[in-house]
Amino acid sequence: MLKRVFPTKALRWTLKTATHGTEVTRLYPEVMIELPEVERGIHELDATLCIGCASCARVCPNSCVEMVPYVFGNPLKNKKMIFPQVDYGRCMFCGLCVDECPVECLKMGKKVTMTGWTRQDIIKGPYELAVKKYTEEESRKLAEEAKRVAAEKKKAAAAKSEGTAKKAAGDGAPAKKAANEVEAGVSEKAAIKEVAAKEEVVENKTKEGGAS
Ligand code: SF4
Ligand code: SF4
Repeated sequence: MLKRVFPTKALRWTLKTATHGTEVTRLYPEVMIELPEVERGIHELDATLCIGCASCARVCPNSCVEMVPYVFGNPLKNKKMIFPQVDYGRCMFCGLCVDECPVECLKMGKKVTMTGWTRQDIIKGPYELAVKKYTEEESRKLAEEAKRVAAEKKKAAAAKSEGTAKKAAGDGAPAKKAANEVEAGVSEKAAIKEVAAKEEVVENKTKEGGAS
């Protein structure tokens, strides 16, 4: 009777776990459950590698990736300095964007929680997604280097086109010379013919004079 009223078994278990430090519940969010290796959470972007090709945006079946400007990437690799922004209101965490990335700078992370008051709060751009990026100082130096490289390329292209134009003009000179020579030859022949005709006329006249 006492056994039915007093839950000795349950009490025994409580005392056992309380004294042996067995974990009964987790203090979420302070203590997070360990996620499996295959877990697909919020994207992680290595902005130092991204080339801004937008392959991730093109392949996304839900059109939730948009390319947006960001300053802490590498302008030598990413000419337009555009990086992916993900709308998590539409993302289904399929991972196709990650598979498509040619430089493997986009990964599915392990962060799975996200809160916000508005729809806009769950749209995450490179400022939130980048786990690796350049510092302000490094970005400034890279931007200067990119400008210098672009100016050099422009100069080289201008020099190349100038060289091509000169070559074309040089190629045209012998042709013109040959044409002039041909023209000169033709006019010389015509002059000889004319002189010969005149001589013939004079000769004929002389003959006619002698005969009379
Ligand atoms: S995980 Fe899938 S749905 Fe989400 S952004 Fe990438 S491709 Fe689009
Ligand atoms: S994350 Fe990858 S696929 Fe997307 S723009 Fe950058 S390099 Fe291209």
